[in-house]
Amino acid sequence: MTDVTVKEFADVVGIPIDRLLLQLSSAGIKTEKADDKITDKEKTALLTYLRGLHGAKSQAEAGPSRITLKRKAVSEIRQPVVSPRTSAGGRATQNRSRTINVEVRKKRTYVKREEVLAEEEERLKSLKEERQRELEKTAPPPPPPIVEKEPEVAPKSETKELVVEAPAAKQPEPVMPVAAPAATDKKERKDKKRSNKPSGRAGKRGEKELHIASNKTARKRKPIRKARRSGAISTGDTQHGFAMPTAPITREVTIPATITVSDLAQGMAVKAAEVIKYLMSMGTMATINQVLDQETAAVVVEDMGHTPKMLNETKHEESVLAVEDNGVEKKPRAPVVTIMGHVDHGKTSLLDYIRCSKVAAGEAGGITQHIGAYRVKTDKGMVAFLDTPGHAAFTAMRARGAQATDIVILVVAADDGVMPQTIEAIQHSKAADVPMIVAINKMDKADADPDRVKQELGAHEVIPEDWGGDVMFVNVSAKTGDGVDALLDAILLQAELMELTAAVDQRASGVVIESALDRGRGPVATILVQSGTLKKCDILLCGNEHGSVRVMYDEEGREVNFAGPSTPVAVLGLSGTPNAGDDAISVAEERVARDIAESRQIKSRDLKLAKQHAARLDDVFNSMGKEEVGILNLLFKADVQGSVEALKDSLNKLSTDEVQVKIIASGVGGINESDINLALASEAVVIGFNVRADATARRLCQEASMELKYYSVIYEVIDDVKAALSGMLSPEIREEIIGLAQVRDVFKSPKFGAIAGCMVIEGNVKRSSPIRVLRDNVVIYEGELESLRRFKDDANEVKNGMECGIGVKNYSDVKVGDQIEVFERISVQRTL
Ligand code: GDP
Ligand code: MG
Repeated sequence: MTDVTVKEFADVVGIPIDRLLLQLSSAGIKTEKADDKITDKEKTALLTYLRGLHGAKSQAEAGPSRITLKRKAVSEIRQPVVSPRTSAGGRATQNRSRTINVEVRKKRTYVKREEVLAEEEERLKSLKEERQRELEKTAPPPPPPIVEKEPEVAPKSETKELVVEAPAAKQPEPVMPVAAPAATDKKERKDKKRSNKPSGRAGKRGEKELHIASNKTARKRKPIRKARRSGAISTGDTQHGFAMPTAPITREVTIPATITVSDLAQGMAVKAAEVIKYLMSMGTMATINQVLDQETAAVVVEDMGHTPKMLNETKHEESVLAVEDNGVEKKPRAPVVTIMGHVDHGKTSLLDYIRCSKVAAGEAGGITQHIGAYRVKTDKGMVAFLDTPGHAAFTAMRARGAQATDIVILVVAADDGVMPQTIEAIQHSKAADVPMIVAINKMDKADADPDRVKQELGAHEVIPEDWGGDVMFVNVSAKTGDGVDALLDAILLQAELMELTAAVDQRASGVVIESALDRGRGPVATILVQSGTLKKCDILLCGNEHGSVRVMYDEEGREVNFAGPSTPVAVLGLSGTPNAGDDAISVAEERVARDIAESRQIKSRDLKLAKQHAARLDDVFNSMGKEEVGILNLLFKADVQGSVEALKDSLNKLSTDEVQVKIIASGVGGINESDINLALASEAVVIGFNVRADATARRLCQEASMELKYYSVIYEVIDDVKAALSGMLSPEIREEIIGLAQVRDVFKSPKFGAIAGCMVIEGNVKRSSPIRVLRDNVVIYEGELESLRRFKDDANEVKNGMECGIGVKNYSDVKVGDQIEVFERISVQRTL
């Protein structure tokens, strides 16, 4: 142990010698001079003393490290109460005043500067140590990954130091800051927010937001902004190249066969509401899902300033279906000859004679109602004949007959001349650009006048060769057969001139002449093969229907396995009844046929819907402002497609402004349960044309006591429907003058006023009938009779040539010479 002097110890400790001496003496250690020695023991004693001293001091003597001062100042404010009266009166009536106590409370906390500094130093030291330890632990230090994520923020280490230093630097003196940093933080955030809000149209980054119509879209954009702020979207993306259009943009809008309103709007880049609005302005009420047909859509597109581009979807089909011209040798084929003409001019009879058959004799009502297709082997070669109905109802059939044919034979009865359907036939063949041969029939008849027929036809630009024209005329008699050979010669000559050829060893293509639904055999389609050869088991596509040829029959009902060009065959095996006039084509793959048939079905359904809607709207607009229209609902089924078509046309034509025929449903085949149910639901009359109802349908009809009407002659259907419509016509009210009386004298009666003494000069005067008073044949009063007297007695009726006294009700200005006309209103049932 080494003793040191007081002086040395004072140097070591760093305090003045005097203070040490004082402290030593206080601690009870006897030292007087600087040179006095103190032992270790004494040092320890001094330390102990001092410790004890400091401990007590820190509690009591050292004083508190922080002092909180509370101050309360109470003051009074006297406020004079000035009543309104005072100021008004100009003199203080009462010197009232109110005393308000104001108490001001102040609280202030003082913290010793050394303590704050010490505290901070301590924290800083510990943090530094911690950091040092961390660094040592993680050596070698990897680059902090945060740098990549937050590129605009400084590396984490720096941030930490900043955080540490910041409060120290900001430390106010002597007040300890409590919530200051938080407050500044908040403020900063607020400022940020404010700057984020779109101010006007220019955003924070100065991008132009022209495509935002108004601030209403600001909310929608929020997620994008958020994402941008977080750095997920680079700010460069906001610089889009949108420029406000200065001129309307014309778009090319592709329109398929049908298009919905919403798709159309999308094509034009307008809102669907715009399109709906436009359609409304055109008088069409449409919904967003409304299917429009191509024409309507094109009109809309054009009117809205865009360019419609009609999409021909069938093009694809055509390319698939096109029969490849692979150099197959074309061979001469039989001509297809369509016989046309007015009803009863002997078309069927002529064909019967040629075919040696008796079709005409077996026809219902003696009229042809189906298109007939026959292949006839004549002495001069093969000819395929199509027999068309002459009746007005079958325009479509005739048109089709003309389309599918090579030559038209116009049959005109020599005793009847040119008739409406003769003219129509001429028009059809001209429209189809088909050469025509005129057969003047019934030449055996006594009143046959072929020259008149020639003249009449000349008026329709059908000029015979011997008159300098180009049309062959043949006089025939279907009854005797005279001239039929000449007619066949003419046909074959014409055919030769046309050099008709067709490929034989190829996929078949043709046209549907007729179709029917056979209960046992299913759909039966009569197809005229025009080129190629149709074979059994071929895949066939007919309009919306497809299938493989199960069986084929010729016109005699004989089963055949092949059908070459110009051959009509009845085909079994289709999925449904195709429409007459549809193209029939044999397809290599079943899948292709099915796909095309299905897509066609969908398309035609859409088209039907579009048309139905248009028709419904037409109805609505047509009936607007009109009296209620009587509607006769009809549902009919027919044996063949052609009849359905003909019936539909004819029946629809019966509609007038007042009564309408509405065909709820129509189709080929027997009447079944669902037909009856539909008819019951829509209160429709059910008509079976050459078809009957099945047992279930019949039972259903009986239960509902609904009448089924069967027909086999189209005229009868039309006449009956016409009669039914007539019954629905509101009766016409007609006036009928039943008597006329001449005023001869006028008496004044106190009881009845003016009484006209009359002579009945026409008809009868009835007491109860309405009358008119005529002066110089001008009606001057209309009313009724007050009294009718014959002499002194009341009379109900006064006959022609008798005198009577007439009192007119509420009218006393009758003069001599006036006439009193008596009339009746009768209702007359009208007919169509
Ligand atoms: P379509 O309606 O044109 O088919 O006429 P049809 O072949 O049914 O014949 C109508 C009517 O005219 C039938 O009664 C036939 O017997 C009659 N008829 C047809 N051709 C001739 C003819 O050349 N001479 C006479 N006398 N009668 C004929
Ligand atoms: Mg006929």
